[in-house]
Amino acid sequence: MPEGTSASNFIREIVAADRAAGKHGGRVVTRFPPEPNGYLHIGHAKSICLNFGLAAEHSGGICHLRFDDTNPTTEDREYVQSIQEDVRWLGFDWGDRLFFASDYFDRLYEFAERLIKNGQAYVDSLSADEMRQYRGTLTEPGKNSPYRDRSVDENLDLFRRMRAGDFPDGSHVLRAKIDMASPNLNLRDPVLYRIRHASHYRTGRSWPIYPSYDYAHPFSDAIEGVTHSVCTLEFEDHRPLYDWVVERGGTSDRPQQIEFARLNLTHAVMSKRKLLELVEDQHVAGWDDPRLPTLKGLRRRGYTPEAIRAFCEHIGVSKREAVVEMQLLEHFIREDLNKRAARVMAVLRPLKVVIENYPEQALEELEAVNNPEDPSAGTRSVPFSRTLYIERDDYLEDPPKEFFRLAPGREVRLRYAYIIKCIGMTKDPRSGEVTEVRCTYDPLTKSGGPEAKRKVKATIHWVSAAHAVDAEVRLYHPLLNTDLTTGTPEEDWMTCLNPKSLERLTGCRVEPSLKGAAPGSRFQFERLGYFCVDPDSGPGLPVFNRTVSLKDAWARAEKRQPSR
Ligand code: ATP
Ligand code: MG
Repeated sequence: MPEGTSASNFIREIVAADRAAGKHGGRVVTRFPPEPNGYLHIGHAKSICLNFGLAAEHSGGICHLRFDDTNPTTEDREYVQSIQEDVRWLGFDWGDRLFFASDYFDRLYEFAERLIKNGQAYVDSLSADEMRQYRGTLTEPGKNSPYRDRSVDENLDLFRRMRAGDFPDGSHVLRAKIDMASPNLNLRDPVLYRIRHASHYRTGRSWPIYPSYDYAHPFSDAIEGVTHSVCTLEFEDHRPLYDWVVERGGTSDRPQQIEFARLNLTHAVMSKRKLLELVEDQHVAGWDDPRLPTLKGLRRRGYTPEAIRAFCEHIGVSKREAVVEMQLLEHFIREDLNKRAARVMAVLRPLKVVIENYPEQALEELEAVNNPEDPSAGTRSVPFSRTLYIERDDYLEDPPKEFFRLAPGREVRLRYAYIIKCIGMTKDPRSGEVTEVRCTYDPLTKSGGPEAKRKVKATIHWVSAAHAVDAEVRLYHPLLNTDLTTGTPEEDWMTCLNPKSLERLTGCRVEPSLKGAAPGSRFQFERLGYFCVDPDSGPGLPVFNRTVSLKDAWARAEKRQPSR
């Protein structure tokens, strides 16, 4: 369950006020209603945290998980499965309240017959094009269809034959009889049922007609006794239709629809259609590719449910559309991993260092702190020997003034070990690349030794060459070069893909304690960032995903302008 104190928001206030006033008999019932046509993403997490959070804030409050599965052509069991896994992973539990809109097909059908009998729905036989023309525009009223005044008997007969499968797709629809002149286009006799001879993943071929979202959704809420139906702003104009349906749906205690602004994130692909395109066209390795903002992708990348919940709590809920910086999400995973991730040393681009005055066969086990933020995490020993690897960019042959790490004649401290001084190097005669750095060490400067406090300008990480474990490291860069939220034409969005979003480093060397680290375990590689063991890891070859680097641009920006 979400931790910490929670700031209020307008939806929390509405629910608390309704509860206090005894509305809905004091019940609080919310629902998270995904369509099983894709994997959940970080935007859904906002809705999940909100809906399950609202229920958890009130004793006896409950949140349903309902699959809004009324569209036969795009839905699948794979998605039903993954959505349940992801909601649980985020830390929420629907208990025995797992529902499917497709379980209501019979009742939705009966309700439609009742609407027909009450003169509130009719079968229309205009073509899709004609219907569009009759619909009017934002500035002009629509026109009544010539079929609008069919008798109840004729409507019933046609609707029953639609249900029996007598008609081809597109030949008829069932429409609500509301008002073709309404200023709200959603009330201009909206479609309740379409003919679709298609197989549904749960009901198979038993239905040749399928209810529209605007019809099935409110009715499902009403059947389940939902009190507060929270959805995103694009449904604001649909609310009168929502109310029209629930008023006629026969329940006295009617659910209330409340809209909030969806989460948009910079540099992230959040539409399920686009995510599906990326997966199907193999621009990414699957729904759990760590570059995707899907919950599976974030998890594989190393995000924790705690960090995602804290992020969702922080961004809050409002009626105003806004775009949230990806850096803010990164800030929350850093904060969380800083507290819990063990520190280790790993060298991504190794450069060999030989310590000439260190005995050939000697080996020392040095004590290293596992987590300075958490004394209970203890210490571990790290082997030190004559030949080490350091990060290639921690050495420069001809350094500029402000470079304080290793260079000819210069000293640095090796983390948990000694101060070393560079006395020479070897180069590949052909490429000119430095292949080995020669150093001496000062035995008195060992951590805890007499000269341990001697000041040098930098401390760098390292691993012992003979003991280090070979590893692959995957660095991730934004999947999009340009931000989709800043106006690239919709049809061109694929041109924004960053061809260099995945950087695979092989031949990385990590300290021996990481041998056999379990997939999913998370570490801070000192000075480099937070990393998570990928399921692609083999017995002798761990693979690490960089979750996030250590630099917190968000925290720095916050400091500069605290009002943000
Ligand atoms: P699409 O990407 O096709 O528009 P969707 O994201 O609306 O689909 P649903 O399965 O209908 O997918 O979403 C389930 C719930 O999650 C809905 O209540 C929806 O409002 C909410 N939701 C979806 N995207 C976001 C988002 N970016 N921010 C907040 N809530 C969201
Ligand atoms: Mg939707």
